[in-house]
Amino acid sequence: MGSARDGTCREPWPLRAREPLADPTASARESCYETQVKLEFTNRAWGALPFDPNEENRTRQVFGACFTRVRPTPVKAPRTLAVAREVAELLDFTPDFTASAEFAEIFAGNRSLSGMDPVAACYGGHQFGSWAGQLGDGRAISLGELKNARGEHWELQLKGAGPTPYSRRADGRAVLRSSLREFLCSEAMHHLGIPTTRALSLVATGEDVLRDLLYDGNARHEPGAIVCRVAPTFLRFGNFELFAARDDHENLSKLAAHTLTTHFPELGAPSPVAFQELLAEVSRRTAELIAAWMAKGFVHGVMNTDNMSVLGLTIDYGPFGFLDDFDPSWTPNITDASGRRYRYENQPSIGLWNLVRLAHALFPLIGDVSAVEAALGAYGDTLTRARSRTLAEKLGLRALRQDETRADGSPCVPDATLVDDLFELLAAVETDFTLFFRHLADVVTDPAADEPSDEARFAPLWDAYYDASAVSADHRSRLLVWLRRYVARVRDDGRPDSERRQAMNAVNPKYVLRNYVAQLAIEAAERSDLSVLEELLDVLRHPFDEQPAHGRFAEKRPEWARHRPGCSMLSCSS
Ligand code: AMP
Ligand code: MG
Repeated sequence: MGSARDGTCREPWPLRAREPLADPTASARESCYETQVKLEFTNRAWGALPFDPNEENRTRQVFGACFTRVRPTPVKAPRTLAVAREVAELLDFTPDFTASAEFAEIFAGNRSLSGMDPVAACYGGHQFGSWAGQLGDGRAISLGELKNARGEHWELQLKGAGPTPYSRRADGRAVLRSSLREFLCSEAMHHLGIPTTRALSLVATGEDVLRDLLYDGNARHEPGAIVCRVAPTFLRFGNFELFAARDDHENLSKLAAHTLTTHFPELGAPSPVAFQELLAEVSRRTAELIAAWMAKGFVHGVMNTDNMSVLGLTIDYGPFGFLDDFDPSWTPNITDASGRRYRYENQPSIGLWNLVRLAHALFPLIGDVSAVEAALGAYGDTLTRARSRTLAEKLGLRALRQDETRADGSPCVPDATLVDDLFELLAAVETDFTLFFRHLADVVTDPAADEPSDEARFAPLWDAYYDASAVSADHRSRLLVWLRRYVARVRDDGRPDSERRQAMNAVNPKYVLRNYVAQLAIEAAERSDLSVLEELLDVLRHPFDEQPAHGRFAEKRPEWARHRPGCSMLSCSS
């Protein structure tokens, strides 16, 4: 959602496509699945946090509440398009259940299981650097918190399940293209080892949704869909910010105490010191998260504080993207094209900016400026360490060398220049970020009687260049010089190529969900062909494996995709 004109990602709202089908009995219908399996909905947050006494489902300001009870709006013809079996297993759902028509009904919001108690959350947030006031779940509806057989708690949330009191002027729905992207990317991120909310299912609604994709007055009807997202909690920085902005310290304190005791029990009982520790821990997790995004070339696209998880998870997939060519100033978000606030290279500093907003919100509970500053300090410390660790891993080095002497006292060059020079070279000529690091593992560095030439050594890397023939002689020789330094550095580490290659291939993925690849799955799904979606879901389970039969999904962005909407840049219209 959003506007290309004012850059706020808030206006104009898509119009309501059509009135929802009213079926007041649908959610109360008894489920046959319950007769077979007993699911335990604990809804711990529901019990601990304040509720809106008003259950009227109309757009309004809601004060003093974390949640409003709201029913999903039933849809016409639910059809399950995909299920992530790993997430189904987390929830103890059997394959029979996920394949049933009943499953599609439940995860489209037409029916509920007993124990589900659907709510929309109330939160605020800073959008594009400005306080936006109350936002809230305008189209997400949490069904409940399920306790699985292993004693883990998972909150189940439908995205696109119809209007809530937080929908403002929008329709509460989601289109297939954005839902498919969220479904696939949540799972892809998990398999890449990046903290994220998960996705159980993608269900088509059988109803159209009206969207103006490019905000140019050309609205069109698109197929609608609903993703069921799964996470320990969907609490965001914005939940805390809204109470703080309204000086509602009583509810701020309840929310922080619940967060602490439920999600961070190791930090102790609620107290100013424990809340300081909470801020420090959220700072550490956010730093680890952003370091992981940077290492894999992920750009979130809308790092507003309402899209920042208090657990340090990637949350709210919208106009996100993975870098194709390494361009540090790239953002996939058309709405952010002028300011590029959420560009790749800016994500680490935005992480801190957002944490400072959270710190302001928690200040009344901590009450001491130096304690807040100390907690925020955890962000920079963690990020520096995580960056150093992930870069060393990407390069196949045991660790980045900070010193100017080796253990034996002999002089050496710190690795910072090797790293900085590489990124400068990658940015200067269109070079695929994912493929460059993947192929760097294949460069020969083992000492041999018959040493290869610099050119021969570089050969595996040319595939990462979008137009190798356009690389100037000067750039080429700088690349070869860099590679010579790299080979010398690897030899200094004493790590044989076979071991280095294995280590590098375990962190540098072959497969990421490139925007053009997601678009292939979307276009096929819009033609009712689910084969690309299914194949991708499977391929992205093993992003570090070669999987030669699926090599087409590892290719550089093709020329046709360079300027096509959805392939290079995306709008917030979802
Ligand atoms: P986002 O930028 O997608 O995180 O959304 C920002 C805010 O707009 C959140 O409060 C969302 O719930 C709300 N929102 C986005 N799209 C819709 C929609 N189609 N219907 C209702 N609310 C929406
Ligand atoms: Mg959001």
